[in-house]
Amino acid sequence: MPSAEIITIGTELLLGQLVDTNTSSIARALAACGVDVHRETSVGDNEQRIAAAVREALGRSDIAICAGGLGPTVDDLTREAVAAAFERPLVLHEPSLAYIEQRFAQAGWAMAPNNRRQAMVPAGAVVLDNPHGSAPGFVVDDGRRIAIALPGPPAELDPMLQELAIPWLVKRFDIKAVIVTRVLHTLGIGESDLDERIADLFRDSRNPSIAVLARPGFVDVKITAKAQDAQAAAPLIASLEAKLRERLGDSIYATDDGSFEQSLGEALRARGWSIGVAESCTGGLIAAAIASVPGASDYFKGGVIAYADDVKSRLLGVDRAIIAKHGAVSEEVARAMAVGAREHLHATLAVSTTGVAGPGGGTPDKPVGLVFVALARPGDKTTVRRLTLPGTRGVIQRRATVAALSMAWKAAR
Ligand code: AMP
Ligand code: MG
Repeated sequence: MPSAEIITIGTELLLGQLVDTNTSSIARALAACGVDVHRETSVGDNEQRIAAAVREALGRSDIAICAGGLGPTVDDLTREAVAAAFERPLVLHEPSLAYIEQRFAQAGWAMAPNNRRQAMVPAGAVVLDNPHGSAPGFVVDDGRRIAIALPGPPAELDPMLQELAIPWLVKRFDIKAVIVTRVLHTLGIGESDLDERIADLFRDSRNPSIAVLARPGFVDVKITAKAQDAQAAAPLIASLEAKLRERLGDSIYATDDGSFEQSLGEALRARGWSIGVAESCTGGLIAAAIASVPGASDYFKGGVIAYADDVKSRLLGVDRAIIAKHGAVSEEVARAMAVGAREHLHATLAVSTTGVAGPGGGTPDKPVGLVFVALARPGDKTTVRRLTLPGTRGVIQRRATVAALSMAWKAAR
């Protein structure tokens, strides 16, 4: 397998003004076709330093993929730098110039002379057309070392990478391997519990392999298979996925790009159920999560952000005596909020939260991180969970949101 390095170009990257997304797009695309990435570098808009980065990368690796610095302005120096690294002159690529001129004519703009620069490529380069912008990309291959230059804007880079650069590499190196991944998203199992359930599979699986990635409240299990093509990878993935499903069963809420909010929405819609929320310490995060899914109006009734005790009682019907007796952060109030939301919002299910998100306001019996989450459902069945959550205010709020949504999902799925 050939090795590659990724070089992102732009002073903005080094100033922290631009978040580099191109490296991960390129790294993922290379991984998916089995090219090993050995190093990733960012360099500013300086011709000597870009040329040095390209030379150094190609002293170690077979391929250097450069992203950025192909625009028309004076600080766009990738063409010059790559040409210098290969000790080749820049030459005009006539079809690219004609394309750029035509783009300007079509838009009705006068073309500034510096735009001609964008049609220059190192002598002998293969030009990669850019249908979403004016600057073409290019490949320089001296038979031993390869540099590929792609424009910086992701909307231009991504399609050129997928449609031109990767197929060029696959052909050039006669690559017969693909990497296919499948992600199983789970919820409600801790990372260590999950580890225990799948330890033997984890240990014994090489191809496909398993990786476990934890986020607050969720754990993702990623299956990665390497095979000659997608067709050959499919049964490898399917057989390991089946084993994982046996172990993790009910905790898997989605696969690949599916989100938790979507799965909850699908479960509610499938049952013809609706949901409402009553939020204190989560301040609307639960409602926002539910409403983030297109078509949520099919099942989302709405919610009450009941921060003040007065709102809890006037809008949700929580008995003032309960608040006085148990305090706003209590199992009883969480229960009454959920029941009240269900009634007032005419929803099948209602979830509620009340807790101490911090950093202030904690007491010995009600410390920061104490959150009660309740779910009210038909038949007067209301369940309350008492959580003691670690983390900062934002983390506590997000974890409480996940807990509330997961109670609803478990009831609806
Ligand atoms: P350039 O080709 O260097 O002039 O970059 C043009 C634009 O592409 C920049 O202004 C950014 O919006 C975008 N861009 C460049 N490099 C990156 C990168 N590494 N990640 C994400 N966006 C980028
Ligand atoms: Mg730039």
